[in-house]
Amino acid sequence: EEKKEDPKDQEFKLEKDTELRFEVETGGTITLELSEGMAEVFGTELVKNKKFTFGSGAKVAVFTWHGCKVVLHGRTEFAYVSKDTPMVMYVNTHAALEQMRQQAQDQGKRGPRVMIVGPTDVGKSTLCRLLLNYAVRLGRRPTFVDLDVGQGSIAIPGTIGGILVERPADVEEGFSLQAPLIYHFGHASPGANMELYERIIAKCADVFNQRCELNRQASVSGCIINTCGWVKGEGYRSILHAAREFEVDVIIVLDQERLYNDLKRDLPGFVKVVLQPKSGGVVERPQPVRRSAREDRVREYFYGVRQPLYPHSFDVKFADVSLYQVGAPALPDSCLPLDTQQENPYTKLVHIQPGAQIVHHVLSLSMADSLKDNLIDTNIAGFICVTNVDMERQVMTVLSPAPRPLPKRYMLLTDIRFMDFR
Ligand code: ATP
Repeated sequence: EEKKEDPKDQEFKLEKDTELRFEVETGGTITLELSEGMAEVFGTELVKNKKFTFGSGAKVAVFTWHGCKVVLHGRTEFAYVSKDTPMVMYVNTHAALEQMRQQAQDQGKRGPRVMIVGPTDVGKSTLCRLLLNYAVRLGRRPTFVDLDVGQGSIAIPGTIGGILVERPADVEEGFSLQAPLIYHFGHASPGANMELYERIIAKCADVFNQRCELNRQASVSGCIINTCGWVKGEGYRSILHAAREFEVDVIIVLDQERLYNDLKRDLPGFVKVVLQPKSGGVVERPQPVRRSAREDRVREYFYGVRQPLYPHSFDVKFADVSLYQVGAPALPDSCLPLDTQQENPYTKLVHIQPGAQIVHHVLSLSMADSLKDNLIDTNIAGFICVTNVDMERQVMTVLSPAPRPLPKRYMLLTDIRFMDFR
């Protein structure tokens, strides 16, 4: 194998209101160091002379309001400075939201509920992170809600969830994921089961409302909701549904005028819909890149991002667990006795016998203590991955971030697969 020589450090001097954009070479890492001035990465301030490390394929922007010098060490796919960023616009959006929070605080009302929508690859997740960081830096405690089941930034793909943000995102690892609220969906695209998708969105909104009633600061701070890039047909209807369930006050549409006009037409007048440009720095991710990003996300769940985690592998007896799947094909009406009402097939719980078909699948571990808690509406404690099924011994081998035993017995099957090549 050819050995590449060590690359030279690249130093960049940034004028005020500019950003350095870079992507880490596949298989490589980059360390970033701020040597002069002040700068931030997606709203988190960099500590001077501290080395930040980014892994393979990471796409990063270092923005400065006042000018700075940064050094990159390692191999980049690209690295360039851009003067053309929408940051001033985004910070004005933040200022308007902050004004709404101040008003809410003064008048004993609730703060802004903001949803970010747009097609794929326009920087929705990045704008969420920026707005959350700016809010928390002012002492707010906003809630981050992620409805994007394709990325699953709060847990793993195939879930939706929410977290209360109490400190700025870590530059390398993102937001701290302590005590997240997670709901099982089981698929990487909402279209796989729209009914279930809408139901868990409604549940998530409910729980957020309850939290706001108990926690004044959370209520005043409001929420920032990330959505998936499916903005046509059923995808569009799910955006309207989520807007209604969360009673959003503001919708930021990134980069699509048609979507902006449709939302203005279809939402009540008190919802403020604003159109904003995307950043030229947002990198397009073709389908294979998305797929591998999903796998990386699951791998990170089991193996950690920066500090390596050592997941546990152990056997679980079939007898100690109850495995379910949400959704079953509907029976044609002609198969049913007259006058019987069919249970909604999309949100029906179907008991599953473990077998070879679940190998490599991720399973959601429900917090439910019994089937009296509806498994669909109960939040998820964590995930395991099935690595082997032994029918003779009636056990399955699982990969788990926590040691045995499993916390509860109820589990939900996902069609998210993970193969452990380590
Ligand atoms: P999705 O289609 O998955 O919903 P999205 O619209 O949420 O995507 P992001 O995930 O925010 O888009 O951004 C896509 C990628 O571009 C990310 O890897 C992000 O780090 C990168 N990115 C965003 N803004 C910039 C920027 N200004 N400079 C460089 N890279 C950026």
